Parts: sequence; structure tokens; C-alpha cells
Amino acid sequence: MWKIEDAIDLYSIERWGNGYFTFNKNGNLIVKPTRKDSQIIDLKSVVDQLVTKKIKFPVVFRFPQILETQIKSLNDAFSNAISEFKYNKIYQGLFPMKVNQRKEVIDEIVKSGKKFNMGLEVGTKGELLAALYFDLSPDALLLCNGFKDDEYLKLALNAIKLKNKVVIVIDEFSETKRLLELSKQLNVKPLIGIRAKLYSKGSGKWAESGGESAKFGLTTTEMLECIKVIAEYDMIPQLQMLHFHIGSQITEVRRIQKAVKEAARVYAKIRNKHINIKYFNIGGGLGVDYDGSKTSSDASANYTMQEYANNVVYSLKEVCDEENVDHPIIISESGRAISAYHSALFINVKGNKNANISRKVELSGHEPNIIRELYDGLNEINIKNYIEYYHDALEHREELLALFNLGEIEIDDKSKGEILFWQTCEKAASFARETQNKSEDFDDLNKLLSKKYIGNFSIFQSIPDFWAIKQLFPVVPVSRANEKPTAYGTIVDITCDSDGEIDRFVDLKDVKEILELHELNNGSYYLAVLLLGAYQDTIGDYHNLFGTANEVHIIVDDKGDWHLKQLVKGDRNCDVLRVVKYDIEALFESFEAEIKHEINENRLSNEEAVDILKNYKDVMNRYTYLDI
Ligand SMILES: *Cc1c(COP(=O)(O)O)cnc(C)c1O
Repeated sequence: MWKIEDAIDLYSIERWGNGYFTFNKNGNLIVKPTRKDSQIIDLKSVVDQLVTKKIKFPVVFRFPQILETQIKSLNDAFSNAISEFKYNKIYQGLFPMKVNQRKEVIDEIVKSGKKFNMGLEVGTKGELLAALYFDLSPDALLLCNGFKDDEYLKLALNAIKLKNKVVIVIDEFSETKRLLELSKQLNVKPLIGIRAKLYSKGSGKWAESGGESAKFGLTTTEMLECIKVIAEYDMIPQLQMLHFHIGSQITEVRRIQKAVKEAARVYAKIRNKHINIKYFNIGGGLGVDYDGSKTSSDASANYTMQEYANNVVYSLKEVCDEENVDHPIIISESGRAISAYHSALFINVKGNKNANISRKVELSGHEPNIIRELYDGLNEINIKNYIEYYHDALEHREELLALFNLGEIEIDDKSKGEILFWQTCEKAASFARETQNKSEDFDDLNKLLSKKYIGNFSIFQSIPDFWAIKQLFPVVPVSRANEKPTAYGTIVDITCDSDGEIDRFVDLKDVKEILELHELNNGSYYLAVLLLGAYQDTIGDYHNLFGTANEVHIIVDDKGDWHLKQLVKGDRNCDVLRVVKYDIEALFESFEAEIKHEINENRLSNEEAVDILKNYKDVMNRYTYLDI
């Protein structure tokens, strides 16, 4: 008997769900945005309501309360560590806008972060312009990273005149003089940070962001040089932050520890030169356990948020105490960990396909021998002989192809032979499952027999990191988890690109190439791709002219009732055509002119013309995805 616990186990949902996601006993995917059992959203019922409201899929679901819960968890983790290790100063977070610049997302982060004096980190002029819109608490920092031209520096310096607590981090040595000159010209005193290039590197996919060959940061010599220049401008009291960032998604906690220790030593030695660095900024890198394995594999992290905070606080304190310098305020720029959980893509499945055909093959008696052999094989295969019969079938298929290529077999017989072959494979695979045969042969067979579920979405728009860097994201059915999934599948998107396929899935031990899914029945089938809230929103592109998806924000109130708070319409065809610089009016005009011409030549009736024009305009103004 299949139980809901079996589904929870199969999809590892409670391992990567972080207290937010699981299945209920009806087999529906649920979310607890506050992690409270009294505030549960049944996501299948949300899907049903969207269908009633005629909101087209795919739909991005956002759970703003998850952002709030993550911000609170991170601040709690640091305050626990600070009291446990008797650290003398506080922790203050920054949200790096690079990770998700969406206005609704930053709105929520700023609102929830206010009581923790959480600030924003920007890396470009665009992000800075956006950040200046938000109302941060007076102690919150607005931190400027990235390569900076004079225009960027000037915008940041002017922001100080408007009472923002701006820190300008020197990421590259040549910025030093320009920053100081401009400050003098504008008569403002910025808080200055320097970004150190450490020897310590991260681990995982982004390891190269740290270490000697990192793109950003100052070497020891450059740092000393930089301090000298700052002193020449009499600005040493303004030098208040030491910053480093060794890459995102650091999978091993000891890498974090090592980097903190190295940077703490730099901090202490600079402090010993009577430069009162106040903030110690450890950058990003706090990992998200996408596969739930809590290991150092690329899709995971071998530590919890609390262990991260403990390691940072403990290592930093140890070095400071040893060097006899004051403890600095700890700053982190954790973007992925705060935002990853808050959004998911819900996809409707259009159908599925594989090579197998369920039609029964009847023999006329005139078929070539090889067909007869495949036919007998299919009828005689059983649990005792299936390994041998499966191998025979493989050989027979080879022979069938060879004979066809020699012109000795008609195309109708080739078709019969192929159907018989795939049906034999199905049977062999089911016997292998029954006998729990784990040999490689049958793993490959399962892959061969797996179905391609056609999902109404674009990987390039909605899950770009899956395509670009093979990052894993959990995928689960939205309902029917109380039924045993009896099919294996991969999920293909609707772009015309063969790369548009999800064919790697989270697994505790390894990576699965096929996912256990349900056979499609007459009802619709929905899948959710989760943990998409970090980086995916703006890295996505317009491949094949699929635009942004419709979006809903869902919150749960104190009574446990859920509400759709906001609905953001996805792109229409006219929107994406504008992105690639088409003038929509001109498109209409040219189409209309063609129709007029056909009418004038008496090749089109007025009625037909009206219909054609209406169809054109309708499609132009509709959603870019399949209307299914
Ligand atoms: C990208 C980036 C971050 C965010 O890193 P996460 O791993 O997403 O937390 C923080 N700081 C800097 C300087 C970055 O470039």
C-alpha cells in the first residue's frame, strides 16, 4: 500500500523543503510560509481557483511571507551565535539586489527587514537607482559594490546628501583616487569599504569567485596602497568596512571558516594601524540545500543556517581576541538563502509521449521470421526468463534494422517489429521492478522507456540556471502524491530547443535522470518547480519569444485562510515583440495592407478579411504560452 510518507520520502520533499513544503494526506502539495502548522496553504486548491479565474498557466507563485520568515531565521541564527559565543557586537544583514531586483520582492524584504536594520547591496547604477526608492531604517546600510565609473560614484555620493547611510566599497584599486576626488568636489564624506582578495576560495560551482584569480578585490599590496591614498585625503576615519565575497552557494562550511579567519586577520592587522574599521562584511555564499542531502555536493550545503552563523561568529571572535582588537559589526550579503524558497513555477502538462505504442499487434502469418520471433518473445516473457528475453529482444531489433536497411523488410513489418520490441521492453522493465533488479541494464532500460512530459513553460525564461549551469531545482507533482507514481519521465518545455528539457532531478544519493511521475488520466496534471526565488527572475531570457509568466502572490492569514494578494500579468506576444524592437503598429498596418490588397484583387471576401484580422489581433494581445 502506497502511503503519503512514501511520496514524502521519494521526492525528499521534507529534506529540501526547509519546513515550508510537504504533501498533505490528500496528496496535495502544501506550503507553510510562516512554518506554523496553523497556517497552511493547499497549493492544489490555489491552482483550482486560478483555473476558475481563467488565469493561464504557467504561473509563478510567490510567497512573500517566506521572505519574512527567512529574514527572521537568519537574524535569529546570528543573534543566537552572538549570545552563545559572547560576541560583543551585533549582526546586520544586507540584501544583494543582484539576486532578485523585482520590486515586489524588494518591497517585502525592506518591509520585513526594517526591524533588523537590514540594508541593500547594489552592484550597478540601475540597481542603485532602484535601491534609492526604498525607505530603509536610519541605521541600515546602502552598500555600493561592483565596477564604478564617475557617474556611478557621483550618484552614490549624492545619495549621502539625502541622508542615506551609503558605503562605497572599493572593488578595484583605480576607484580609490576617483572616489576621493569626487567626494572632495561634492563635499561629502562617504563611508568607505575595501574589498579584500583572499587566498581562501569557496567550494561548489562558484569557487572561482574567490581566490587569487578572483575578478574583484584588492591584493594585500593594493590594500596598503589604497589606505595610503585615503590617508593623503585625510579620510582615514571614513574607512569603516572590510569586505570579501568568496562566491555563492558555498557547499562546505570549512571554506567559510577559513575565509573568515583569513579576513579576520586582515581586519585585526589594519585595526592595529589605528584604522577603526567598524564593519566586517562576509559577503554572500550562504548555501541552499536544493537536494536535501546536507552534503557538499553542488546542489547542497553541508551546514545549516545556524551552523553558518556559529562558524562565522566563533572564528571571527577567536582571531579578534587573539589579536586583542575590538569585535566588528558583522555584515552579510546573503541573497540566495533569503530569496530562494519564496517562489515556484507551476506548470500544466500538455501530454506525454514515448516510443512505446499500446496497440496490439496481430500477425497475418506472412511476416518475415524476425517478426515472428519478436512476437513469440513478447508472449513468452515472464518473471523467470525476462533477463534473457530482454537481451534476445535487443538482438532481434538490431537484426530487424539491418534487414530493413538491406531492403528485405517492408515498412509495415518494420513498424510491427518496433511495437513488439517496445512492448517486450515494458514487460521486462516491470519484471525488473518486481524483482528489485538494480542492474545497470535495467536502469538504462527505464531511461529508454521513460516518457517525455510536455510542460507548458520555457526553461530559458523561468529556470535559466538549469540550462546555463546545470543547477538542480526540486520538481514535484502538485497533487496525486497519495497515488503511487507508476511512470518515469523527463519534462520537456515548449521551446523548439532540444536543450529545453529537465532531465536531472534531485536525489539523496546522486542525481536522477528520470523522475517518478503519475500516468496522465483525463484530468489535468500540474507540476511545480520549486526554490526558484534566487537569480532566476532576471537571468531568464526570451528564447523563442516566450515571455515572463503570469504571477500570483499568495499569503495566509492568522486564521489559516489563504488569499491571492497580487496578480501580475505575464508578457503578451506584443510585449515580447517590442523587446526585440518590433513596432506593433507597423506590424498591424502591414498585415492590414496585405488583406486590403487581397480584397481588391477579389481573392478574399470581406467576411474572411474581418475574421483574419481579428485572429491576428487576438493572438498579438494574448499570453505567449500554450492555451491549454
Ligand atoms: C552575488 C553576490 C552576493 C550574493 O551571494 P549569495 O550567495 O546569493 O548570498 C553577495 N555579495 C556579493 C558581492 C555578490 O557579488
